[in-house]
Amino acid sequence: MSSAEGGRLAGKTALITGGARGLGAAIATRFAEAGAKIIINDLNQEAATSAAEPLGGIGLAGDVSNAAAVTEMFAQLRKQVGALDILVNNAGISGLEGDNEARERIQKVAENATRAAQGEAIDPTDLQLSLLTEQSDEGWHRMMGIHVNGTFHCSREALRLMLPERGPRERDGCIINLSSIMGTFGRAGGTAYCTAKAAILGFTRALAHETAARKLRVNAIAPGWIATAMTDPLAPMHPILEAQTPQGHLGEPDDIAWAAVYLASEEAKFVTGQTLSPNGGWYMSQ
Ligand code: NAD
Repeated sequence: MSSAEGGRLAGKTALITGGARGLGAAIATRFAEAGAKIIINDLNQEAATSAAEPLGGIGLAGDVSNAAAVTEMFAQLRKQVGALDILVNNAGISGLEGDNEARERIQKVAENATRAAQGEAIDPTDLQLSLLTEQSDEGWHRMMGIHVNGTFHCSREALRLMLPERGPRERDGCIINLSSIMGTFGRAGGTAYCTAKAAILGFTRALAHETAARKLRVNAIAPGWIATAMTDPLAPMHPILEAQTPQGHLGEPDDIAWAAVYLASEEAKFVTGQTLSPNGGWYMSQ
């Protein structure tokens, strides 16, 4: 559909998981401006609905890590909307949510990094947030459950809805998975998050192979450091992250939203199995 006919995504229906705030909300807003019908998923029905309504969309609650909840959400989607063209697997956690001890460690690491930058000799282990020995089973499984299993659950249900029983779709459809620079670069103290985000890249490539001949494209976005509620707990580290970023600042949610608009649009029709990484130059090889 051309822009003259109402926007690059006119006539398309898009589901954005974890879309009540942050990157998901920015993606939903830009998709709506481009003409897409929006469905926002999040954990809480009220949050999903309040984000979707101003965009003329609908909110559907559901925990993406729970296969039964995802099946139920897609049953609702099938009933209320009937079709899907674009799925954005965006729901995610940092693992730092509600962890006050982690906030203290972040503060300490930031202070150490500043002193190291000023030439003071600092033990390199004092520049790390934590070691794998401190990782709980619960936290590890929660990380995989939301990012990896959630991406799997939603993509499987989306394919059931998006693909006809045999042969390709009549028109272009796509899945966009939110990975991270952490999925390729890695980071001390973030083993679970980095593992989950790397798994999403493998998932993206395999599913892109499976669906390429069926008029479906599957791509990943690997954002750099973006200012959202997720990166708030890292505030003491922001000056250091900014100094490490060649462009000198953190990104904003729209930097990711525009990448998603491109990947979802007709202009990206030859793009599948790829990772697009808006990151201000922090990491130049994905
Ligand atoms: P955010 O914390 O601001 O928003 C995440 C949203 O996901 C929240 O609304 C939350 O309620 C929802 N959510 C969490 N668990 C869920 C679940 N089980 N089911 C459904 N919804 C759930 O985070 P953000 O910064 O907007 O990040 C969005 C995505 O981008 C995440 O996958 C994140 O890992 C990824 N990412 C973010 C950054 C960054 O710097 N902000 C960088 C790289 C990747």
